[in-house]
Amino acid sequence: MSKIWKFDGLLLNEGWMCPCYVTTNEQGIIEEIADKNTSSSAVIEVVSGYAIPGFQNAHSHAFQYAMSGLAEIHPDPTSADDFWSWRETMYNIALSMDPDQFEHIATMLYAEMLSHGYTHVAEFHYVHHNKDGLRYDHLAEMGTRLIAAAQTAGIGITLIPIFYQKGGFGQAPGFKQKRFISATAKDYLELLSASEEATKNYSRSNVGIGIHSLRAVDQYAIQATLAETKRLPIHIHIAEQLKEVEDCLAHYQQRPVEWLLNTFDVHSHFHLVHATHLNKKEISGIAQSGAHVVLCPSTEGNLGDGIFPLSTFQQQGGQWSIGTDSHIGLNPLEELRMLDYGQRLTTHRRNQFVSYANGDSGLFGLDMAWKAGRKAMGNQEEAYFAIGQSFDAVVIDSQTPHIATSSPQHILATLIYSGDRSSFKGTLVRGIWKAKDGKHVSFDSILSQYKKTIAKLKIR
Ligand SMILES: [Zn+2]
Repeated sequence: MSKIWKFDGLLLNEGWMCPCYVTTNEQGIIEEIADKNTSSSAVIEVVSGYAIPGFQNAHSHAFQYAMSGLAEIHPDPTSADDFWSWRETMYNIALSMDPDQFEHIATMLYAEMLSHGYTHVAEFHYVHHNKDGLRYDHLAEMGTRLIAAAQTAGIGITLIPIFYQKGGFGQAPGFKQKRFISATAKDYLELLSASEEATKNYSRSNVGIGIHSLRAVDQYAIQATLAETKRLPIHIHIAEQLKEVEDCLAHYQQRPVEWLLNTFDVHSHFHLVHATHLNKKEISGIAQSGAHVVLCPSTEGNLGDGIFPLSTFQQQGGQWSIGTDSHIGLNPLEELRMLDYGQRLTTHRRNQFVSYANGDSGLFGLDMAWKAGRKAMGNQEEAYFAIGQSFDAVVIDSQTPHIATSSPQHILATLIYSGDRSSFKGTLVRGIWKAKDGKHVSFDSILSQYKKTIAKLKIR
């Protein structure tokens, strides 16, 4: 039976429809969008809120959620504390988890993502093998657990099994990387195919291709992988750290993005994660290629990566999405404003986002992150809401002090520059509430399982 939702407003690509009635079928697919109720018989749910499309989290390493805050205590002030020391802590945690524990952590994380307004996540997944570094009987065992976690929480997932071959440019993998490794492109393509098979169990899942970084996979293996896989989104960590740029210069005599652009046919299916350290030519090169950048400001800030040259990139038509990466922060509003504030702080100017959207920074940030985010998931649709699409939305509470007193034109900027999780009434996926009033609908049972898992791991 159809159901009608009444909202104070629904954000369409052409602007707000206020009020708005959305009709969904039993599968949560949109059948009608109208500014008045056209049915006298359907069940109606009146929601005091403004619905916007669910946020797209284009970069996640689920297991790292369990280490949030653990790498922030530094008893020895004489030792270096940087990305590379953080990586040691991360490796130790990656080595410690069995598949059940991995799944419970991911389930908690995805439940929390839903309560923050994300409805889809791209999982950049590289912990493939058992604790001894041997293949599981089911090659994509760990990826299957991520899909199961997404299904339990109710979030859409793009599983990106990661090709991880080396310990650094021209170096054999290290002992602590043993769970990550595919020795050859053939090994990786087998893993990709097993992962694709695993997505058949959950209708809201699909796969992408992942190259961990230029330091982790050699040129010929990247070539062989890309030759086999033309239709999928391609994710790669690139130029996150200065040391990575120096190592790439030493190995290839070119900077990472420079080398990538000179060596491969980089196009709109590429999603370059971080891309922090770029010269002017590289910025133009990415923008002209149509490739996207995935930015993770809270993690990049936490790791001391650097600030992506967003304003220059955008002036050249560059496109970007956001991700929560290590999950030190899970708030999409914070990711967007940190991105903008990084530019404001370095240029001493305001409104660094706006190049269209009638000067509305809030709308611009939301639109860019959503559209590029959808592409990062392998989905080309551009309509926020349309007949025939799944009804996935996050609903802004109409009764917070700022929203209750705002005209529709100020709602998005108010949300993005002053909001947090308490600004949301809830998150809908396929026309079902997955989170309400700041909590996932199964929060208590998921938390209980998560607490047991963390207690067993003894990491916190
Ligand atoms: Zn990452």
